[in-house]
Amino acid sequence: MKILVCGGAGYIGSHVVRVLVERGYQVVVLDNFSTGHLGAVPKEAVIEEGDIRDRVFLGQVFQAHPIDCVMHFCANSLVGESMVEPLKYYHNNVYGTICLLETMVEQEVTRFVFSSTAAVYGEPEQSPITENSSKKPTNTYGETKLAVEKMLPWLDQAYGLKSMTFRYFNAAGAHPSGEIGEDHNPETHLLPLILKTALGQRDKISIFGEDYPTPDGSCIRDYIHVMDIAAAHILGMEKLLAGGESNIYNLGDGKGFSVKEVIDRTRAITGKAFAVEIADRRAGDPVELIASSEKAHQELGWKPAHSDLDTIIKTAWKWHQNHPQGYGE
Ligand code: UDP
Repeated sequence: MKILVCGGAGYIGSHVVRVLVERGYQVVVLDNFSTGHLGAVPKEAVIEEGDIRDRVFLGQVFQAHPIDCVMHFCANSLVGESMVEPLKYYHNNVYGTICLLETMVEQEVTRFVFSSTAAVYGEPEQSPITENSSKKPTNTYGETKLAVEKMLPWLDQAYGLKSMTFRYFNAAGAHPSGEIGEDHNPETHLLPLILKTALGQRDKISIFGEDYPTPDGSCIRDYIHVMDIAAAHILGMEKLLAGGESNIYNLGDGKGFSVKEVIDRTRAITGKAFAVEIADRRAGDPVELIASSEKAHQELGWKPAHSDLDTIIKTAWKWHQNHPQGYGE
């Protein structure tokens, strides 16, 4: 079985690629390396460097490799940036995905695994959030992911293109080997920023708001280990390859931790007493995002195995200690 992983050099894509390779799948990684890292791709994978918006390039990739399933992780994913450069997000996340889907239809590849986000829900009306909860994105990033989600049932109907969509909550952690992990530039996510502070690369970590209606006043999120996300993708892909129908699943651990709790656990695990400051709220942050992943448990037999907060922090800490400059590219 040959799997094309678009965005396979990025944070989540590279962990999925690693697991695919470990399971004996043949993997082709397509990446434009705008945010991905060569060092994140295992040597067993074939690399095709280029952009999903380049239809000629896409055609060549599909001609060169008989693809059984496409996994799609290429996207711009910075919420703040998406609000000031919305067209960049529509161009890459929506138009780019259309190019990829057009090529799949042309080449008669009919299995598609799509990387979506909890940002499609916006400010939640219920907690935990189920797949049927209302979808009102509060930022362009979430809106572009939702736009793709909305196309997929029509493509199934017209072309028999079967898709699995996964809406991630807060992806975190690293491969247990410490060989691959999270390396964004700029980094905006909570745990890597705390760990960079623990390493002494930053003066302090800011808590964005402590006046939220939560027990300690800071925002609550559902942190899900990247290895558990990878496992869900493989289950979803295998279901599609076995003739399964299109579907959408939340991926979270069903437990919420506040910003302060994550900081406190990280202090305890790293043994570093780094500085913390209270800062203003960050625009657009929902108070609490907690997933119900009951559907993935029931239908895919997926169960998070690495997503307790300590395992997430320990694996991420191992990566950051081994790679203080990330991939160093
Ligand atoms: N956060 C924070 N300080 C930081 C970065 C993030 O307090 O330096 C908070 C942020 O406001 C949110 C939570 O940590 O409540 C998780 O943010 P992140 O950007 O990691 O993920 P998001 O939930 O936005 O996808």
